[in-house]
Amino acid sequence: MSVQLQPSAPAHTLPAFDAEAVRAQIPALHQSVNGKPLVYLDNGATTLKPQAVIDALLGYYAGCCANVHRGVHTLSQRATNELEAARTTVQRHLNAPEEAECIFVRGVTEGVNLVANTWAQRHVGAGDEIIVTGMEHHSNIVPWQLLCERVGATLHAVPFDDAGNLDLAAYRALLSPRTRLVAAVHVSNALGTVNPVAEMITAAHAVGAKVLLDGAQAVPHGPVDVQQLGCDFYVFSGHKVYGPTGIGVLWGRRALLEAGGPWHGGGDMIKRVTFEGTTYAELPGLLEAGTPHIAGIIGLGAALRWFQALGPERVAAHEADLLAYGTAQLAQVDGVELVGTATEKAGVLSFVAAPALGVHPYDIAELLDQQGIAVRNGHHCAEPVMDRLSLSGTVRASLACYNTRADLDALVVGVKRALSMLA
Ligand code: PMP
Repeated sequence: MSVQLQPSAPAHTLPAFDAEAVRAQIPALHQSVNGKPLVYLDNGATTLKPQAVIDALLGYYAGCCANVHRGVHTLSQRATNELEAARTTVQRHLNAPEEAECIFVRGVTEGVNLVANTWAQRHVGAGDEIIVTGMEHHSNIVPWQLLCERVGATLHAVPFDDAGNLDLAAYRALLSPRTRLVAAVHVSNALGTVNPVAEMITAAHAVGAKVLLDGAQAVPHGPVDVQQLGCDFYVFSGHKVYGPTGIGVLWGRRALLEAGGPWHGGGDMIKRVTFEGTTYAELPGLLEAGTPHIAGIIGLGAALRWFQALGPERVAAHEADLLAYGTAQLAQVDGVELVGTATEKAGVLSFVAAPALGVHPYDIAELLDQQGIAVRNGHHCAEPVMDRLSLSGTVRASLACYNTRADLDALVVGVKRALSMLA
C-alpha cells in the first residue's frame, strides 16, 4: 500500500520511532481547538513547526539580525555564515553535488517559475513539447502553460488510472525527440501517489529530455537523493518539511542553471554594473537577486537538521504504518470512499463521504473542525485530478511524523459523527 521514497534500510531493522517524543517538540500541537484537543491532519498544506525551528527564527531576529553578504561587521558575517550553513544542510539533505546548485526560492511555485523563465525559456521553442502528469499541482502546470504560450510549444499530460497509478505506457508513448522537458510531481498532494520517477527519468533522458521533479510532498516523507534519482531539477517548499513559510529550494544541475542565465535582476546577482552593460555573479548568487529571506533560510536549515536527526527512513516507516492503518480504518466506515489507492503511496488519505446523499467535502471538514480535527477539503490545487475522477473535491487527511494512530482513530470517530449529522 505504501512505500518509502528511497529506502536505504529495511523498516524492520530500524529502531522504533517515538512519535510522542517528537510531539513534545511541537508547541502548536498542544492546544485545544473548539474545546477539543487539536488533531492536526493538514500537513500536506503545511506542517507545524518544531521548537528548534522557532528558536532558529528567534535567534536570527533577536541575535544576529543583519543583512547578509555585503557587511564586514560581525553581525552581518554571523548572519551570512548561518545562511551559508543552511545551504550546506540543503546540499547534504538532497545529496546535491554542489552547494552552489541549491538556490533559495520562495517555494515550489517560485522554483518552477524560475526554471520556466530561465532554462526552459531559452531551450524550449516552437514545436517543442513538455510533458507533465495528470496529477500535478497547479504550480507545475500553469508556468508551463504560460511558457508554451510564449514560445509556441505544446503541453501534454500523462493520464492515470482510477486508483491514481500513472499510466507509464501512455507516458512512454508521449515521449519523442520533440520532448524538451518532463515536469512531474514526485508524490501527488491530492492522491498520495508516489510516481515511478526512476523509470520516468530514464525514459526521458533516452529521448534527450530534461526532468524536473516537484518534491513538495516527497521531501517531508522520507529520504530524497537527487543523484540517485538522476533528475535535472528538483524543487521543494520549506514549510511542508517543518520549516518556515516563504522559503524553499530549487536544485538544478550547474550547467543547466548557468545555461538558463539570470531571471530577476537586482542586487547580489551581479558582478559589475555600469550603464554600458552588466556582468553577472556566479551561482548561487546569479539566481538569488535581492535580500533573501534570511530568517527563513536559517529556519529551513534548522528544520532539515531536525528532520535528519529523526531519520528520514524512520519517518517513512512510521508514516507507512499510519497510512496503512488509516486506510484500513477509513475503508470500514459506511459511506466513505477512498480517493487515491495507488500501489505506491505516501502521506495522504483522500476520501469522499456519502457523495450520493449530497454530502460535500466542505461539510465534513467543517464538522471535523468543530471536533478539533484539522483536515483540508476541496480540489487541493489539482483541479485536473478532480476532473479526471469526476469529483468536485475530496476531504484530505495528510500525515506528518508527529501523527499517531490515535489521531487516525479520532478522524474515524469524527467522520462517523459528521456523517450521522449529515446523511
Ligand atoms: N506541489 C505540490 C505537490 C504541493 O502539494 C504544493 C503545495 N500544496 C505545491 C506544489 C506548491 O507549494 P508552494 O505553495 O509552497 O509553492
